Amino acid sequence: MYCNNCGLLNPDTANRCECGFDFQTKSVRWRPDEHPELSGVRGWLLFYCIVVTFVTPIVSLADLATNRRGLAVVVITVAVCGFSVYTGISLWRVERKGLKLVRAYLIMGWVIAALSMVELIVLRDFERYGGPAGQTLLSTAIWWSYFKKSKRVKATYGANLGEPVKPPLSGPPHESSGAKPGIPHA
Ligand SMILES: [Zn+2]
Repeated sequence: MYCNNCGLLNPDTANRCECGFDFQTKSVRWRPDEHPELSGVRGWLLFYCIVVTFVTPIVSLADLATNRRGLAVVVITVAVCGFSVYTGISLWRVERKGLKLVRAYLIMGWVIAALSMVELIVLRDFERYGGPAGQTLLSTAIWWSYFKKSKRVKATYGANLGEPVKPPLSGPPHESSGAKPGIPHA
């Protein structure tokens, strides 16, 4: 049979489509049935939330307060801190946009660190200042793979990084009458 929600061909014995459509109740109900005990902001996810919401902004702003920096650096740092806090709070509240924010935040961190690497190499200051930029590149890559693979992330947000987020269990049931327009069913 074809799914009423996404049009995917399922075995006739299936109870639920991959998209979350339940053939019995005729509604989309996503359930974190793989690891429900992992759902929630705990463990490494909690650690990340604390780092992004508190540690990164405090360390960055303390650096601005104690060192003379150019205006461009000050503006970029303050903007990144704001985005960092916004991302952390969104993750903490388990908002659906949380994963998208993390994605944007990690890409932004990686680009800024990569650009500063290039600048340090050009200025021949690499040996003095290359360490922090290198650490940022490395930690960004590690957190990227965490959000892409973590079972806790999937159980908490309904998806890993880069996957479409499924509707939560508490969400409004999907209308069962008819299919989405434009999807062939035969
Ligand atoms: Zn489906």
